[in-house]
Amino acid sequence: MEFEELYQEVILDHAGHPRNFGEMPDADAHVHGDNPMCGDEITVHLKRDGERIAALTFTGAGCSICMASASLMTQKAKARTESEARALSRNFQNLLTAEELPPGGMHLGDLQALAGVRKFPLRVKCATLAWHALEKALDGAGAEQSFHVRPDTAAE
Ligand code: ZN
Repeated sequence: MEFEELYQEVILDHAGHPRNFGEMPDADAHVHGDNPMCGDEITVHLKRDGERIAALTFTGAGCSICMASASLMTQKAKARTESEARALSRNFQNLLTAEELPPGGMHLGDLQALAGVRKFPLRVKCATLAWHALEKALDGAGAEQSFHVRPDTAAE
C-alpha cells in the first residue's frame, strides 16, 4: 500500500468513526469554534486534573479533514500535560504551515496523515480548528468560549 493511500485511510477511518466524540457535562472548559469558510463547527470539551488533561472529547460536525483532525487531536492530547499538549499543537500546526519540514519528519505518528492538507491553505483551517479550540480550552479563560476562524487568516 502506498503511503498516500495509508494516510487517506487514517483520515477516512477517523472521520467515519470519530474517537472521543461526545458531550462532557462536568468539563472544566467547553470551547466552540466554527470555520465559516467550510461550515465546520465543533466544540472541544476538556477536563483537567492539575497540569494534566484528564478527559478530552469533542462534538459537532464538519468535513472529513476537520473531523479526522479533531478525533486525532483528542487521542493524542488526552492524558498529556498542558505543556506537552501545547507543544504537540505547535508541531502539528508547523506540519501544516511551515515552508519546509525538517528532514526525517515531525514524529507526529498518525497526525502525519493530515500533512497533505498543507497544499490547500483553506483546508488548513479545517485541520487546525480543533487544535485552536484545544489551546483556548487550556487557556482556561471562562468555562464557555466561542471563536470564529476569520477569512483574513486563511493564507497564513
Ligand atoms: Zn472543513
